[in-house]
Order: sequence, then structure tokens, then C-alpha cells
Amino acid sequence: MLQYQETPIQEIHDMALEKAGLRLLIKREDLNHPLVSGNKWWKLKYNLMEAAQKNFKTLLTYGGAYSNHIFATAAAASELGFKSIGVIRGEEVLPLNPTLAFARSQGMELHYISREAYRAKSRDYLERFDNFYFIPEGGSNALAVSGVCEFASTLDVAYDYLCCAVGTGGTLSGLIEGVPAEKKIIGFPTLKGGEFLIEEIKKLSGKSNVLTNWELKSDFHFGGYAKSTPKLTQFIERFKTVHNVPLEFVYTGKLMSGIYSLISSGFFPRGTTILAIHTGGLQVPK
Ligand SMILES: *Cc1c(COP(=O)(O)O)cnc(C)c1O
Repeated sequence: MLQYQETPIQEIHDMALEKAGLRLLIKREDLNHPLVSGNKWWKLKYNLMEAAQKNFKTLLTYGGAYSNHIFATAAAASELGFKSIGVIRGEEVLPLNPTLAFARSQGMELHYISREAYRAKSRDYLERFDNFYFIPEGGSNALAVSGVCEFASTLDVAYDYLCCAVGTGGTLSGLIEGVPAEKKIIGFPTLKGGEFLIEEIKKLSGKSNVLTNWELKSDFHFGGYAKSTPKLTQFIERFKTVHNVPLEFVYTGKLMSGIYSLISSGFFPRGTTILAIHTGGLQVPK
């Protein structure tokens, strides 16, 4: 098993919340592991157990060149003594960026495929590797959903709204599976046109087909995946200075900024409590 550190729930205090009559709590899951942080820890947990149980020696997965999933998988493999292979979208760029340099330092073998081949995720390509445990892009499979579902059951605090950043939707699916049905769950897609994720989430979570307690707020992508704006940068800097919560611009910065936009538009009823999940992704060893 990967090491795991218990994480706090931090209450945020400021004028915007006071004015709106709301409580905002942040589950600091970014602090759960120095390298395999946030949701990636939970998404990998049962995949790693399955790989070990089935006697696989190698993990293979896909990701972009800045992927938190690649970073986390490389670190998890190294901690548990697996070999790891990362199939990276695009051409090799040297020197390696910090994400890939870190993955290499953890022993991950890097292979590069064209964007077209990546999109097709052809099985033929994988035939050159033997005997690997396969983890899909972003790590989102049924075992990942089980891990996040277990995480959801650890949220023993009173709240009304659960808010989380959405990439592939695996994490939100696990939350929908795991939290009591009277909670409201809001996902904030970080890529443009995130509505297609509704179908992805429905594939991953049976409950999401039946329950109506969840929705996506797709207007907080700030131009698209891994895009940023000066306003977002400023928000992130301010949040760190005022509340001492580190955010990054791909996921958690957009989530928190989105929550504040919804607060100022009057979306959350007075007197309710919002619980935001800090899913990690800072890629800085703690
Ligand atoms: C990967 C990641 C997400 C997205 O998780 P999905 O399960 O792909 O939706 C959210 N936040 C952070 C920090 C991540 O690294």
C-alpha cells in the first residue's frame, strides 16, 4: 500500500462568504501524500492492489506531457516497486519538462506517440510491450471510481454542496457513488465544452444515471484545458496569500475561482455549507 497521511478540513473566512451567509470548507486532500497527491492517490489505490495481486511487475498508462496522472503513477510505481511505462502524447521535447523529468527520475520509461495515434489509443501500439497492468488515461476506470467512493465516505463533516474539479470525470463519478444522496454535487470541468463529460460520468457511475443531485458547471474553463488568464493567476496568488491554500491553474484554481463566481451570482442559498475538494496536482514534493 502507498503511504497515506490524514488530511485536514480547512475553513475559509472572508467578506464574500460573510456577505452571502455561507460557509466554505476545503478538504485538503492535496496533503495526503508528498508525491501521489489528492485524487490521484485514491484513483490509483485499487489499481495498484489489483496489479500486485495479479502479479504484474509493470504498470503502463497514457498521459499528456504535463499530466498529474503520469507524475503520480511514476511515483506510486517507484514507491511500490513496479516498473512503469508512460505513453506520452506528442513528440519528445528535450530537455524534458519538470513533469517528465520527474517521471524519468522515478524510473518511468517514456514513449511518445503522435496526437492522432494518441486519440485512437490503438491496441496495436501496445502490442510491443508485454505483461503490463494497464491504467487508462487519467487513471479513470472502475477501480478508480471505487477508490474515490471510499474517499467520499471519509468526509465526516456537515455540508450541503460538494464541489470538485473535473478532468476525465472519474473523480466526480466516485463522489456521486460515495456521498449520501441528499448532498448536492457540482463538478467544474477544466476543459472547454465539458458537457460531453456527462455521458462519461454516466458510464463510470451507475448512480449518476439515477440520481439528479449532481451537475456540471461548464463555464469556468478559462479558455480551455491548461489555459489561464491574468485574472485566474491573480486569484490563485491571492488565495495563497490570504488563505494559505496553494492552487494551480489547471484544476483547483479554476474550481475555487468558479465557486467564488457562483457565490457572487447568488447560486448558493444563504445558510448553506460548501465543501470543496482540493484534489492536489501541485507536482511539488512536500
Ligand atoms: C487529475 C486531476 C483532476 C481530474 O480528475 P478526473 O478524475 O480526471 O476528473 C482534478 N484535479 C487534479 C488536481 C487532478 O490532478
